[in-house]
Amino acid sequence: MSDVADHRENAIELRGVGKRFGSAVALQPLDLDVRDGEFFCLLGPSGCGKTTTLNVVGGFVSPSSGTVSIRGRDVTDLPPHKRPVNTIFQSYALFPHMNVVQNVQFGLRMSRVSKAERESRAREALALVGLTERAKQPVAALSGGQAQRVAIARALVNKPSVLLLDEPLGALDLKLRKRLQVELSLIHRNVGTTFLFVTHDQEEAMALADRIAVMDGGAVQQVGTPEEIYLRPKSRFVADFIGESNIIDGRMDGGVFRAVEGFAAPCPSDTPADAKALVVRPEAIRIDPNGSIPAVVTSLSFLGPVTRVTLSVPQSDTMLVSTIHGGAATHMQVGVQPGDHVNVTWDEAAAHAVAD
Ligand code: ATP
Repeated sequence: MSDVADHRENAIELRGVGKRFGSAVALQPLDLDVRDGEFFCLLGPSGCGKTTTLNVVGGFVSPSSGTVSIRGRDVTDLPPHKRPVNTIFQSYALFPHMNVVQNVQFGLRMSRVSKAERESRAREALALVGLTERAKQPVAALSGGQAQRVAIARALVNKPSVLLLDEPLGALDLKLRKRLQVELSLIHRNVGTTFLFVTHDQEEAMALADRIAVMDGGAVQQVGTPEEIYLRPKSRFVADFIGESNIIDGRMDGGVFRAVEGFAAPCPSDTPADAKALVVRPEAIRIDPNGSIPAVVTSLSFLGPVTRVTLSVPQSDTMLVSTIHGGAATHMQVGVQPGDHVNVTWDEAAAHAVAD
């Protein structure tokens, strides 16, 4: 993140926002800042409180504690339609008896915007989502991806300060989902509106977000850029949730990280004394004759661009996963086979300590 971005005005500020449903705590009181123009993802497993957070911003759920501000204005007590936000849900709920452009213009008609302005804004919104050609089509004739793009145009036409998106690509198949991710990124760049996007799919969050809030148990565990969260997870939960991790339990002992099973694991010289585990990403683990950790290759899986190698450290429960780049099509090209005794290592800087 550049300094410029750091000093932008906040589009959304949550202060001490908590939510209980009866005795169940959906959100523990949390603070969250989303910067103006940012593509911000709320990411976490099912039930962690993502949708509740989004609904609190949208005004569909009133918080049990705390305040919600949008662009500096306290909107905590305002109903949804009085907030400068629009929401796109997973099920796009278009009006089936209207064509594409009528759907897009609907909100503007309700707000009594003039016909000429309605038409020009709808044209602009449809161009943004690449549906200019389909303006007069009945919505029943659209594919799922096209229908979701109409829903996006219908929200953008109102020029909201903040667009809330709750798993908007969740109902689409993987290929279409990936294509719409790219389109959504482009749309975001072109309109410059703040996007608050909920997903449980960490790859989607990594692909789209300027910053991500990783949530668990109704609390924000970490906020950061995709790089920060991937390379410097604050906790074992974040390391485990984002991508694949080797998590090696142990402790610092005379400047060396000693795994519980005895072997010394390479780590940076400034590793904190209270480190409880090292996180090492699979792509950092190398099979190297000079490596200090002996291991046995247990399996190889060819995944296309990489080959995934699992390794077990003898006399221990430690299993390591390494990914070798280069599209090795056969086991011979990777240079090892299941059953081989090898040595492994990683660069000290590739190990990241967590204290839980
Ligand atoms: P998912 O990805 O499954 O949608 P989520 O992270 O969006 O999950 P929330 O929908 O925010 O999670 O729910 C957080 C917690 O609050 C869950 O335990 C859920 O069961 C509970 N919860 C949410 N809405 C209500 C409600 N209206 N009444 C009671 N409990 C609720």
